[in-house]
Amino acid sequence: MIYLGLFGALLGCTTNEKPETVTENQQDSTFKYLVDEFADLRIMRYQVPEWDKLSFQQKQYIYYLGEAAKCGRDILADQNFKYNLTVRKTVEAILNSYSGDRENIDFQNFVVYAKRVFFSNGIHHHYAEDKFFPEVSEAYFADLIRNSDKTQLPLKEGETVEEFVAFLTPVVFDRELYKKRRSSEEDIIKNSAVNFYEGDITKSEVEAYYAKIMNPDDQNPISYGLNTKLIKENGQLREESYKVDGLYGEAIKQIVYWLEKANEVAENDTQRDYTQKLINYYNTGDLKTWDEYNIAWAQDSVSMIDFVNGFIEDYADPMGMKATWESVVDYKDLEETRRSQIISENAQWFEDNSPTDPRFKKKECKGVSAKSIIVTTLGGDCFPSPPIGINLPNADWIRKEYGSKSVTITNLMTAYDKAAEESPKSALAEFAYSQDEIDLCRKYGEDADVVHTDLHECLGHGSGQLLPTTQPGALKEYSSTLEEARADLFGLYYCADPKMVELGVMPDAEAYKAEYATYIRNGMMSQLARIELGKDVTEAHMQNRKLVAEWCYEHGQADSVIVKRVRDGKTYFVVNDYEKLRTLFGELLAEVQRIKSEGDYKAGKELVEKYGVKIDLDLHKEVKQRYESLGLKPYGGFINPEIIPVEENGVVVDYKLEFPTDFVAQHLLYGKKYSFLNSKR
Ligand SMILES: [Zn+2]
Repeated sequence: MIYLGLFGALLGCTTNEKPETVTENQQDSTFKYLVDEFADLRIMRYQVPEWDKLSFQQKQYIYYLGEAAKCGRDILADQNFKYNLTVRKTVEAILNSYSGDRENIDFQNFVVYAKRVFFSNGIHHHYAEDKFFPEVSEAYFADLIRNSDKTQLPLKEGETVEEFVAFLTPVVFDRELYKKRRSSEEDIIKNSAVNFYEGDITKSEVEAYYAKIMNPDDQNPISYGLNTKLIKENGQLREESYKVDGLYGEAIKQIVYWLEKANEVAENDTQRDYTQKLINYYNTGDLKTWDEYNIAWAQDSVSMIDFVNGFIEDYADPMGMKATWESVVDYKDLEETRRSQIISENAQWFEDNSPTDPRFKKKECKGVSAKSIIVTTLGGDCFPSPPIGINLPNADWIRKEYGSKSVTITNLMTAYDKAAEESPKSALAEFAYSQDEIDLCRKYGEDADVVHTDLHECLGHGSGQLLPTTQPGALKEYSSTLEEARADLFGLYYCADPKMVELGVMPDAEAYKAEYATYIRNGMMSQLARIELGKDVTEAHMQNRKLVAEWCYEHGQADSVIVKRVRDGKTYFVVNDYEKLRTLFGELLAEVQRIKSEGDYKAGKELVEKYGVKIDLDLHKEVKQRYESLGLKPYGGFINPEIIPVEENGVVVDYKLEFPTDFVAQHLLYGKKYSFLNSKR
């Protein structure tokens, strides 16, 4: 599970300066975090503190893992949508070789489209999941293709450029075609463009297929369908696995190659052991081996360097089963890890004292290990738009029996903060009702948010248990949203607990109020800036925040817990009674935990659909206007630093970091160096 943080809505920023194009190597006070802005996106860089304190061998290990992380880029693009690679390779060919004028407004508009394709790993918005369009004419787009190097275009055998243009134009421009990457409208499989299902498959066919192969009595079930594509051919359903000699084999081979190199210089045998399990899994596609890998990986809390690499999160699948490929390479932030560890060491206390029914509590919290990390390379579904917290593995039974590993990514959180400081305007000042609220959030906002992220990741997702009779997948398409709500509520409830001050992780008894005010403001209002007018909320983390905020607003109305105020035509939601709000968070946590533990699909569906999906149109208009008038970009992503081998007499003696500033250049480089899959048609 991943945590996306409130930064986007809380601290968005703007700049009128032109992006620099030089590569900088220094990590000092002159380091510029915010380097580019376009559409609704801003591009940042992140620093990698303490790099020079790592040994040569550690740097080498990180370098190899980083190469593995970059090799799955094509996999994600293809998973997102079957023609994404074709579009991306076309865009790359144009950027690399177009011979016409590059200064005019049409070309600039095309470049914005290209950047959006890179950012989203495809033609659908990375977060809202609907198709976006180039702001150029079909004729101009066709001319770009005609005047680019033909050998770089992803043409089929014998295909002419004109035939290719005829194929590609509707894929890119037709507003009715491939509208949604993941749809929540019936039929959710037929209406989704995501590439996990092939052929004319319906939701009920998918359900029937998996119901047949799942064993309801298995206490340790594999993650069915996690690493496969479900294909219907001649009326028959079959799965095709992602593995070395299967689907995406050419890219997976490269990942395995770098993992093997990494294993030669790993820090210890524990790492070597689980990395070998991961390699075995990539070779066979066997999900039992995947579980074995996860069990071994989850228990390694001592290694300095760590990584995530695999088909892991199922947010992109309308059925919540199939996982996108992702990777993160990181090492421990030793100073910040202290706080995460204090929280995780007290896991049992939090579990015992939570407001949930005793039947749904873990009797024994095993191995919730938490740390703060510094990332060095982001890949797949974590790039360029990464989470700020991660908690893995995802399988419920592994979490229960072997525990889980939870991380807070401190160098990315710092980058978000610093990039916001580089901007003169703030969403906080716009959406907070009073100067008191602004002061409160300025004083405690960062601290409280880090603690909430820690609680969400290392305790929230790991807390609670299913009743023995409940199937892990019982909540189906509502499972991600409800799981995020559960983790958020756990964090919100405990943010305000005196225990947090006692443990020394919260500065004082007032600090939690900053998180409460921000959470409500964001859930009720500011996050709506991210959604196109007239559309529903569809992303799991956003649905969860809206659900939590709206539910508390409604259930606290009689006691004026959260008050809606209007001043000068602007709407505000103000927390009026922080203690009662905490009680409401506790009540909702108990209910969401019950829904999960019992697998109460009907109640879960009602909760999400009533509070998490529909937006009041007038409020939505207002939020978008206010946000746009600030010139803020609601979504952020990153350029990876490059890890460069330093050679002396033909031998690598060190690895140094460079921090490129050109978003497009990095993607064109990745397109040349790390593209291993052919675009299929
Ligand atoms: Zn989460």
